Amino acid sequence: MKKFLNKKVKVFLLSFVLFAAILSAIVVFVKNTGINEFITSMENSSFDLRQKVLASSKNDKVNKDLVILTIDDASYEYLHEKYGEWPLPRSVYANLVNYIEKQNPKVIAFDLMFVKPMKNAPQDDIALVKSITSNDNVYAAMNFDDQEADVRTPIDLDNKFKVNVQNNSKVDFSQDLTFTNCRSILPQLMSGTPNIASVNVSRSTDGYLRKLPPLMKYKGEFYPHLALKVGLKAKDVQSKDFQIDKNGNLITELGKIPLDKTGGAILNWYGTADKTFTMVPLYKVVKAMNGEIDSPIDFNNKIIYIGTTAVSLYDTKTVPVDKLYPGVAIHTTFINNLLDGNFIKRTSTSVDIALSLILAALVGFIIFKSPTTLMSISFTMLTTLIYIIFAYYMMKFFNVWVAIVMPAATILVMLILTYVVKYILKSRDFENQYKLATIDGLTELYNHRYFQEQMLLQVTNCKRYNTHFSMIIIDIDFFKKFNDVYGHQSGDAVLKQVAAKLKKNVRSCDIVCRYGGEEMTIILPNTDYEEAIITAEKICHLIAEKPFKLVNNQESNVTISLGVATYPQDGDAPAQIIENADKRLYVAKENGRNQVGK
Ligand code: GH3
Ligand code: MG
Ligand code: MG
Repeated sequence: MKKFLNKKVKVFLLSFVLFAAILSAIVVFVKNTGINEFITSMENSSFDLRQKVLASSKNDKVNKDLVILTIDDASYEYLHEKYGEWPLPRSVYANLVNYIEKQNPKVIAFDLMFVKPMKNAPQDDIALVKSITSNDNVYAAMNFDDQEADVRTPIDLDNKFKVNVQNNSKVDFSQDLTFTNCRSILPQLMSGTPNIASVNVSRSTDGYLRKLPPLMKYKGEFYPHLALKVGLKAKDVQSKDFQIDKNGNLITELGKIPLDKTGGAILNWYGTADKTFTMVPLYKVVKAMNGEIDSPIDFNNKIIYIGTTAVSLYDTKTVPVDKLYPGVAIHTTFINNLLDGNFIKRTSTSVDIALSLILAALVGFIIFKSPTTLMSISFTMLTTLIYIIFAYYMMKFFNVWVAIVMPAATILVMLILTYVVKYILKSRDFENQYKLATIDGLTELYNHRYFQEQMLLQVTNCKRYNTHFSMIIIDIDFFKKFNDVYGHQSGDAVLKQVAAKLKKNVRSCDIVCRYGGEEMTIILPNTDYEEAIITAEKICHLIAEKPFKLVNNQESNVTISLGVATYPQDGDAPAQIIENADKRLYVAKENGRNQVGK
């Protein structure tokens, strides 16, 4: 029983080591091929799915102070009708700011860009600039990009927009978040307020938007995202100095923002936009502003974000929880995450690998312990399921994104590998058993049973093909006495050496067996009587020629007597042939031993 268990442990360890080797090979392979991207995109999908399922239980986490003033389809239609060609006259925004400001909102932020001066309405620009610059809680947007310098000359941004960042981590902003150009806005705005920040977003290669960069680099300096600035302002924080700790967390006065390798903050979504943040269509506010209706909402202490949700204005993105998600709601999601400390933290690759290895070990163990295939596959599936549930709850309760795809793939590889190893071992086991059943333990010659089988086979074959074969029977002379003089151990040593000598000195097709005790036989296929006699004589001479090594460094000569018989002349059944060989052996003994009996 103990041996049985040890063997299982050995098998288990062996497959695990094999597995680790294969896994490292896979990691290298994956890193150098497109599979890496494939796994990443699968993992992203698993994240999206988790987010979708979790979103339904996040209603209570949505911050009710976040209000989106939206230019939705209805507003677009209404405003277009009322004010003519798009874009909306800037005086409307100016009036809007002034109107809302009267109700003391916390912040008003524009996810709209006021790019160029309106040539035909300069007074509107002045009104807008005035409304924004005279209130320290109104924020406007600019945007970084990589436009060629001959398309638009890169501008120098004023120091008031910059932030100081001490990066103690491996987060690398040069990969995705370093820009060569900036889409600036109305110069009077740029000079009139420090409350301007970028509205850049970053998308995964599959086009999904899962993260937002809190910081970006332009001309070697760091600039914050508008959502970061607005989020901090919502709690009356106006920090110019930031640190990124060694684990890649951006430290803010409202808590840590975990950044991924390229500097993006992975957002924790609250569901489709229509079901989360308070959305107020802009036209209703305009109507209220013009005294046509009562104000649709009390703006006091609210964080107001103004942006578009109208599909015709093309500001929709695909995010994990929705195919068409308004850009402005991405900002509010970031702010909500910031205020709640809810950002998603992605585990490092080494944690993913460690988890995969633990699972592989567990699955390997389970498979070796399971007596049936059905059971091992069921337990493997159960383990996978439990792991997926674990990953789900890690995100639900700790906002941690642990990998699912790599561990699941690992489990699959382990399952296949374990079966391969199991199969190999089974066939080796079979070989072992076959050996045990046919080989004599002491001499390592074929045993008596095998000898009898082969005799029968030879007779049958020779009958069918009308050929012949011979056999030699060998008996060690005075072996009883030898044992008495030198002891059984020396006797055994001689038996082994005689056996080895026999094997070494016959053809590879000859079959040397231990007949019993100190008697051995050799089957010689396709050999007639005369040829067999020659072989027997040779063997007799070889054995007698040299002394054998005994235990205790002693030596002694040993002789043998031999008898030969041949099919068909000595009989057409194994028993008859053996009997005839035995008779001749007896003759040899009678004639003084150490010879071939005839
Ligand atoms: P003979 O020349 O007439 O063959 O004399 P013998 O003493 O060899 O007589 P016999 O063949 O009848 O005796 C066989 C002896 O061989 C009996 C036993 O002591 C010894 N023997 C048989 N099998 C083994 C074995 O596996 N190991 C050892 N050490 N001795 C064995
Ligand atoms: Mg004997
Ligand atoms: Mg003997």
